[in-house]
Formats: sequence, C-alpha cells, structure tokens
Amino acid sequence: MMNKIEHIGIAVKDLEAANEVYAKLFGAQPYKTETVESEHVSTSFFKVGESKIELLEATDPESAIAKFIEKKGEGIHHIAYAVDDIKAEMERMKSEGFVVLNDEPKKGADNKLVCFLHPKSTKGVLVELCQEIK
Ligand code: ZN
Repeated sequence: MMNKIEHIGIAVKDLEAANEVYAKLFGAQPYKTETVESEHVSTSFFKVGESKIELLEATDPESAIAKFIEKKGEGIHHIAYAVDDIKAEMERMKSEGFVVLNDEPKKGADNKLVCFLHPKSTKGVLVELCQEIK
C-alpha cells in the first residue's frame, strides 16, 4: 500500500543555483544535501510543511538525470510514494503489469530503499517507491 507522496523530484542543471532559487521560494535552506554515487547524482532536500522537494543534479553525463535534461530540459522528474514494504509493493506492481525498473530495491538518497516504475507504464510519469530504512 502507498501511504503518501513522500517527495517530488526535480531535475536541475546546477544544484547550487537551484538551491538558491528554492531557498528563496520556500524561505528556508535545504535540510540535507547528499551525493548518491550509484545514481551519479547530487541531491538536496527541502521541507515544505509535511512535504518534501528533492532537487537532483547529474554528476556524470551517463546519469539518468543528465539524459532527462538533455531530452526534456529542467523540470519535474519523478513523484515518490512512501511504502511500508517495498518488496511486497514491487511484487504487487509487477503483478499489475507495471514495468518495475529494478530487480531489487536499492539504496537511494535520504535514508531510503527505492525502486522505479517506467513512465511508459504510468502515463508518462516516472514513479519512485521508497521505504524508510529503519
Ligand atoms: Zn526521489
């Protein structure tokens, strides 16, 4: 079961410049910045009330974020939903016919296990499932 929207991910070209823009927008600094080597991204996280916004910058031209920006420009990259049991949800998604992009959950930013659903199976939106690592 999905509990809530955990965060919205936004692809940016320059994380430092984007942090400045979003710090102005929210009137607050990011509560966390983190590089995820396995995904070739640098990220920062802002809190907006109970919601979170993740900014992602590619650290490598092979990064999915670099490819996304090349194709579509900066903008909303994914919507992440919180789940209690990511493995069970991955099985459920597969059985419902969604294209799950990972065989196993992987370690994402912000202390989460994550997996992604291909946008072609979700009407054009990259979906992230994430489970807090306890
Ligand atoms: Zn995310």
